[in-house]
Amino acid sequence: LNKRVIVWFRQDLRIHDNEALYEALRSSDQVIPVFIYDERLFFSKSKFGFPRIQIQRAQFLIESVQNLAENLKLHGLDLIIRLGKPEDEIFKIAQKAKTNWVFCNRERTQEEVYVQDQLEQNLWSIGQEVRYSRGKMLYFTADLPFPVTHTPDVFTQFRKDVERIIPVRKPIECDFSTVRQVEIDLESTPITNTSQLGFDKDHVKLLYPGGETKAIERLQYYIWESKLISSYKNTRNESFGMDYSSKFSMYLATGCLSPKKVYHEIKKYEEMHGSNDSTYWLFFELLWRDFFRLMAKKHGNKIFKAGGTKEKVDESLTDNFHLFQIWADARTGYPFIDAGIRELKETGFMSNRARQNVASFLIRYLKINWQMGAEFFESYLLDYDPCSNWGNWNYIAGVGSDPRENRYFNPVLQARKYDADAKYIKHWCPELEKLPASVAIFPSAVSETELEEYDFILGRDYPKPVIKL
Ligand SMILES: Cc1cc2nc3c(=O)[nH]c(=O)nc-3n(C[C@H](O)[C@H](O)[C@H](O)COP(=O)(O)OP(=O)(O)OC[C@H]3O[C@@H](n4cnc5c(N)ncnc54)[C@H](O)[C@@H]3O)c2cc1C
Repeated sequence: LNKRVIVWFRQDLRIHDNEALYEALRSSDQVIPVFIYDERLFFSKSKFGFPRIQIQRAQFLIESVQNLAENLKLHGLDLIIRLGKPEDEIFKIAQKAKTNWVFCNRERTQEEVYVQDQLEQNLWSIGQEVRYSRGKMLYFTADLPFPVTHTPDVFTQFRKDVERIIPVRKPIECDFSTVRQVEIDLESTPITNTSQLGFDKDHVKLLYPGGETKAIERLQYYIWESKLISSYKNTRNESFGMDYSSKFSMYLATGCLSPKKVYHEIKKYEEMHGSNDSTYWLFFELLWRDFFRLMAKKHGNKIFKAGGTKEKVDESLTDNFHLFQIWADARTGYPFIDAGIRELKETGFMSNRARQNVASFLIRYLKINWQMGAEFFESYLLDYDPCSNWGNWNYIAGVGSDPRENRYFNPVLQARKYDADAKYIKHWCPELEKLPASVAIFPSAVSETELEEYDFILGRDYPKPVIKL
């Protein structure tokens, strides 16, 4: 072999079922694994002036990269870590180490594509090149029964076209047995705390810790130990607690967990314990993830634009920063909405039900440009993924692939249905604790006199509703 290569880790922070790593190990005996913290993410603002990434997401990334370094070390490889521009730093490493190729899993969204294209151009100048793998989806595009450009725009159609026809490939296993550590002194600056990435604080404690090891633990727990997967369909619309849904999303988004691995664990579980609607439904949700990725591939940058994949701008929406701030500060006076935003800001996570509600509230009731909401989510969500986030916002804003027109969620009716005992609301809005559940769901639905009986005054103890529904 006598080849020396770089594996550039990106949103694939794992050693299991990692195609780029697999290909690198197969094609060479000297592998330099690299992760670059992209400075543009930490030291610049979004279009609407928000931080690109909040501290929770940064902490999750640090934990995931540290864990990747540990897992690679078990196989004798040192992860090179730097802060800078990947296209420059990897180029420098390639130049110094005189490598043959750079392996990476290909990304498909604009910023990620820009970086990989720049790197490729830099590498060409020294006679090297990028070799791409694809490690993101359940399905391989080559296995799909249609070309990407013909992917059905309606999810149900997509699902029917693929689910029964195409097998999900088996996860691949990397063989580290012949690989050697490269004997070249390459600068590496491990990032161990968030202040190195420009945050005021060193560290935040996460409810959902990062890393491949934690991802596999969660998979074990959710499927095998607790068997919660067998009741997933009944609980998935809840919002309170750790167990109503899988909480795989942050691991899938950062690539700490492979979707193919999840799929094959589900299948193994079904063989041993039987299949039901719930075991199927987890697979069904994973299909949404593939669907949004294919939508982004098919429609390119449209998913980020006001008109979405439909190219239909909703002229009634405005960039009203004042109203937006009320939503973002969780002061809307609608407890289900405020609870969701508070949870997101505190933990970097929110249930799917709450996400749909806060997004729909911003767009349908406050009439705010949905792109502001999408950017806000982008900075906070531990599971931020360009395709899933912008795709879902397209969908709720009615500019994506939703076949239903004018989908909206009434946050009071939704809370009555999905948080009837107000557990979620009271956890995140403890000022409502003293109210009975039915009142806490929407305090302004009852009279001031009744509220006074609970020593509760709207406007003092909790905001009055920002608008009437
Ligand atoms: C406005 C909005 C923005 C969103 N942004 C993101 C995002 O940036 N990243 C992200 O991973 N999900 C996003 N979602 C989808 C969904 O809310 C989360 O994937 C889910 O809540 C994560 O929790 P879980 O892992 O416990 O999900 P589970 O219910 O256990 O589902 C299992 C997995 O299926 C996938 N999945 C489930 N629902 C969806 C969906 N609607 N779209 C795409 N994949 C899905 C996820 O990978 C998830 O981990 C968004 C939804 C909305 C409404």
